[in-house]
Amino acid sequence: MARYTDADCRLCRREGCKLFLKGDRCVSKKCAFERRPTVPGVHGNDNMRKKISEYGQQLREKQKVKRAYGVQEKQFRKYYEEAERQKGKTGEVMLSLLERRLDNVIYRLGFAASRDQARQMVSHSLFTLNGKKANIPSMQVKVGDVICVKENKKENGLFKELKDVKLVTPKWLEADLDKLTGKVIANPERDDIDLTIREHLIIELYSK
Ligand code: SF4
Repeated sequence: MARYTDADCRLCRREGCKLFLKGDRCVSKKCAFERRPTVPGVHGNDNMRKKISEYGQQLREKQKVKRAYGVQEKQFRKYYEEAERQKGKTGEVMLSLLERRLDNVIYRLGFAASRDQARQMVSHSLFTLNGKKANIPSMQVKVGDVICVKENKKENGLFKELKDVKLVTPKWLEADLDKLTGKVIANPERDDIDLTIREHLIIELYSK
């Protein structure tokens, strides 16, 4: 499936919640969802009034999470399958796997304004993981891992601007925005996830 290239804000309006895809803009008055929280398209208001079937709700929840983390269907299903193999509640394990993606960690550390930007930065090889090259956005981090901006990239204008971004670092991560380093100090827990997600709907959808 091709990557989505239309306006990001349409995705938030489609899913009926803020997915925080555009960095600073998402917390400003310019946020399209704040200004017009209707489903995009000429029948947006009509669609909002329609009752969604159980299957429709499950599908929407899956789309919402995929879009928030910027993951394609095939890869998303793999997270579900991996979560099923692991101990614990499948939905929570699946979200933990998504949270521990390197691109998400870069975003949550405050080194990028959005997950999308973090993905690009990782692909452009701006970071190291435990001192080694890390340019695959889907890499999984684990407790004790250290993420650093490469020495020769620290002067990149992107990082200078990001120091002003007011982001709350989740308790499972430790960030040093001056040294541009971060550490994974615990595994993410369910309440560390900052999006409203009903993961049981996704599990119901996949386990049919
Ligand atoms: Fe979504 Fe951000 Fe656009 Fe608001 S500004 S609609 S949160 S992507």
